[in-house]
Amino acid sequence: MKTIGVIGGMSWESSAEYYRLLNRYAKTRLGGHHNARSLLLTVDFAPIEAAQRAGDWDALGAQLADAATQLERGGADVVLLATNTMHRVAPAIAAALRVPFLHIAEPTGAALKAAGVSRVGLLGTRYTMEQEFYTSVLRERFGLDTLAPDEAGREDVHRIIYDELCHGVIHDASRAVYQREIDALASRGAQAVILGCTEITLLIKPEDASLPVFDTTALHVQAAVDWALGV
Ligand code: GLU
Repeated sequence: MKTIGVIGGMSWESSAEYYRLLNRYAKTRLGGHHNARSLLLTVDFAPIEAAQRAGDWDALGAQLADAATQLERGGADVVLLATNTMHRVAPAIAAALRVPFLHIAEPTGAALKAAGVSRVGLLGTRYTMEQEFYTSVLRERFGLDTLAPDEAGREDVHRIIYDELCHGVIHDASRAVYQREIDALASRGAQAVILGCTEITLLIKPEDASLPVFDTTALHVQAAVDWALGV
């Protein structure tokens, strides 16, 4: 089995989910006492979150490229970045590595395409929903048309991620906000919804949603374990 390196801490609430799911899925694949061989490097989220707001993406790219090469030096055979948002700097990370970097939108796009979806709703941070770095991968690699909530909806979805989910706070009222936004995406023609932030899985389960849910955290983990086991 190959070793999976994970750049985590953004937030650690979702990194803990990565760790749990990596081992859970390896056990599903291999049975018994098998784990996924993995390394988790946790960065400090506070300065990163501030740099996001300042738009200091070049410095963030350099910092996360450094984290990725630390994992490579430690023996990682593949590197994952356990946040959708920070894929804004995926090119800088991939360029710094000799081992593969598994982009989070790739397994998500592939799963949507395999399910026959062409129009998909996207929930995530404002960076992920509004900038091009994420939707362009889905469009160019998988032919997917993405729909995000309207301005007020994007603000609510973003605020709940940073003020609640990244602190491990789960409110029923916030689940209702996400359900309202998923319903609105469905009424605009979305055939499915991407949980495009690695913490949303803590709030929304498939049974909570009026659309089929594509959870980036679970899909990223499964793709990594499949890769580590040679599929
Ligand atoms: N984990 C989140 C994501 O997947 C948001 C936190 C962040 O990295 O800014 O986008």
